[in-house]
Amino acid sequence: MKIAVLPGDGIGTEIVAEAIKVLDALALPFEMESALVGGAAYEAHGHPLPESTLKLAKEADAILFGAVGDWKYDKLDRPLRPEQAILGLRKHLGLFANFRPAICHAPLVGASSLKPELVAGLDILIIRELTGDIYFGQPRGRRTAADGLFPGTEEAFDTMRYSRPEIERIARVAFEAARKRGKKVTSVDKANVLETFQFWKDVVTEVHQDYQDVALEHMYVDNAAMQLVKQPKAFDVIVTGNMFGDILSDEASMLTGSIGMLPSASLNDRKQGLYEPSHGSAPDIAGKGVANPLATILSAAMMLRYSLNQEQAAQRIESAVQQVLAQGLRTPDIYSDGTTKVGTAQMGDAVVKALG
Ligand code: NAD
Repeated sequence: MKIAVLPGDGIGTEIVAEAIKVLDALALPFEMESALVGGAAYEAHGHPLPESTLKLAKEADAILFGAVGDWKYDKLDRPLRPEQAILGLRKHLGLFANFRPAICHAPLVGASSLKPELVAGLDILIIRELTGDIYFGQPRGRRTAADGLFPGTEEAFDTMRYSRPEIERIARVAFEAARKRGKKVTSVDKANVLETFQFWKDVVTEVHQDYQDVALEHMYVDNAAMQLVKQPKAFDVIVTGNMFGDILSDEASMLTGSIGMLPSASLNDRKQGLYEPSHGSAPDIAGKGVANPLATILSAAMMLRYSLNQEQAAQRIESAVQQVLAQGLRTPDIYSDGTTKVGTAQMGDAVVKALG
């Protein structure tokens, strides 16, 4: 088993170092190799995703990714900006299924913006289709309107589209994931208005025939946005398209209180995956040793579960994280009165110790 380690920029190097400590402590038979990505790769090789980094990523079973970006690169041409590295990896590796769990850890229940009783015990998984939909559909552009309300004026347009195989494969991923959890899938669409999402609903319903042990419900996206803050625990697995998933996964992340706690995975049909925290490179706190490494450590646990087939090791990491939180250890982003403030490395060390 081979893991490509791409720490990236800003706090990326600090948080990935802690995840590696934890992986090393498990003493499992995998090989790890690091490469530059994002702004760091641009500085060294003139490109955010150099050929050598892409080759390493393609050959690996899984990629552990930190974060990329810094305001100082904002003036670069778009293809050279650090964030393009993630888009490039998604495209070249065909990473179509984005997993974003939203778990409210019991000791952090007060950090949520919702009432504790609404989020205590929350454990939902949002599966977002990542390579299709209106974000990638062609044609798109600007032109002079030939018709519509204001013919002859400038207009912009995008195309929402999904093919049957794209919907089938993400639906299968969702049903398979639900089988290992609460056995319920909520498919989120806008079938009442959009052709694309009536088709989505029809195809998901067809695929469901193969997964009769899993309950399927359909929900319009506006209602889903409402239910996520009204009774989030009613969900188990949510599956949806790229744009709705983009918005709903950010909404769900806030139920849990802190962005420093949220892991994510992006998988292809060979179960090869890119694992990264949901946050960015946090240039404002980079180099200060205060970043929360838990999202990255939990991403490493997802990597063990989904790409490396090491469920037990994944659970060991997750329960070690629960333990350090129960001990009251907190990086500044999740600190509250009565708890113990620690830095990035201390938090990583505590997780290693809690592995037992
Ligand atoms: P950000 O997620 O980096 O930071 C937002 C806020 O959250 C900041 O105040 C930051 O200090 C805090 N924060 C983030 N992660 C934290 C952690 N682990 N521990 C403690 N606090 C944490 O978002 P931003 O500031 O909008 O973007 C900064 C840079 O990151 C930009 O260049 C952006 O393009 C890039 N970015 C990269 C990714 C990625 O690599 N996948 C994702 C989002 C943003």
